[in-house]
Amino acid sequence: MTTIEQDDVWTADRIRAADRDYVIHSWSRQGAVNALPVAGGSGAWFWDHDGNRYLDFQSQLVNLNLGHQHPRLVAAIQEQAARLCYIGPGFAERSRAELAEALAHLTPGDLTMSFFTTGGAAANENAIRLARHVTDRDKVIARYRSYHGATAGAMSLTGDPRRWAAEPGLPGVVRMFDPYTYRCPAGHPDPCPVCTGGPHLEEILRYEDPGRVAAVVVETVTGTNGLIYPPDGYLRSLREVCDRYGILLIFDEVMAGFGRTGEWFACDHWGVVPDILTTAKGLNSGYVPLGAMTVSAAIGDWLRDNHFWGGLTYAGHPLACASGVASLKIMKDEDVVGNARRQGELLGSRLAELAERHPSIGDVRGRGLFYGVELVTDRATREPLVPFNGKGAAAEPVSRIVKEAMRRGLYLSANFNVLRLTPPLVIDAEEIGLAVEILDDVLGIAD
Ligand code: PLP
Repeated sequence: MTTIEQDDVWTADRIRAADRDYVIHSWSRQGAVNALPVAGGSGAWFWDHDGNRYLDFQSQLVNLNLGHQHPRLVAAIQEQAARLCYIGPGFAERSRAELAEALAHLTPGDLTMSFFTTGGAAANENAIRLARHVTDRDKVIARYRSYHGATAGAMSLTGDPRRWAAEPGLPGVVRMFDPYTYRCPAGHPDPCPVCTGGPHLEEILRYEDPGRVAAVVVETVTGTNGLIYPPDGYLRSLREVCDRYGILLIFDEVMAGFGRTGEWFACDHWGVVPDILTTAKGLNSGYVPLGAMTVSAAIGDWLRDNHFWGGLTYAGHPLACASGVASLKIMKDEDVVGNARRQGELLGSRLAELAERHPSIGDVRGRGLFYGVELVTDRATREPLVPFNGKGAAAEPVSRIVKEAMRRGLYLSANFNVLRLTPPLVIDAEEIGLAVEILDDVLGIAD
């Protein structure tokens, strides 16, 4: 029988060993895990126990929009902890009420009432269940390149290969292709019916019975699976088809929301409003687990007369909601969305310069601080540098690029042949410059 040990016993080696022996890591063969013990972080940086510093160009799963250890956010959590750490979801509590009211004003269109969850997957679970109840229909349409979370229903919505391990999954999920204009799934030149949205959806509905489809769920901008921006008109085209058949449109902005793309919400770029918006991550930079499902006024009205069949012990957790309220205030006071836009323009122009020097760069796409760099063996044929192999994370030589960048102090991630560049929204121009210099060096591996 061991005891809980004193802090000073926890050297980096001790942490690494206990982590290896006792912690189950996500999406990994446990024997292959050798996780870096992290000692601390600040702003766009984190560091290990040996004092090596890393520029965080991933934002820890595209989550730390306000960066590491934002002092005002830490203080808000401490203040709430001193006031009231927990009260059940059945009570009215200030941080919960304040965050819901703030979201009603901040989110687009008539999105009004929010249900708070512990993260993105739970928000999506509740969104599809609610959509089925509101419409009294059973089918849900989602896309192949979606990632919507790892719980049972969210995994069924997810189209990427991680879904395979969870199949057969939720009945009634039908899949459509993504508007991946650089690499059209139907092999069409741009613009094509798939990438236009509505025509592709209409065609699917002919075979699925629109009267049975409760919702269409899309990541407004596809994050994990390749940073895919819909062409102008795509979301509006989905909106029109959904309206025609009484289908609810759900935007998953768990990754793309809260300033990530240089607007408060990614759908603001195109002025299209969903019936349900799901968020998490940047909502409070994940300092305490939090997600939200925010619904239209019409669904809000429906909820006043009908039962909401959902609940979580930690729904609207006061520490999470207090950090959400503080996070929104910080974002406004410090013009974080404006910074994301400005630094994003800088990043975009520096990446365009890199593309002139590196033949391995096939495509650079992004807005705000949500960029993808797609690597190819040949620009003319667009042959991916590593093929899509269903195994998830990047293979050689992309994995070598990621490792080499880390060795030089730049932390980033990749999905197959797409490097994802998603730093905290509080990053400055000098830090962007440093990241681009390191990228310039390591991209030589691919050229
Ligand atoms: N939806 C999107 C678009 C995501 O990117 C993620 C996580 O990366 C999720 C949902 C799931 O969120 P969580 O991991 O908080 O459950």
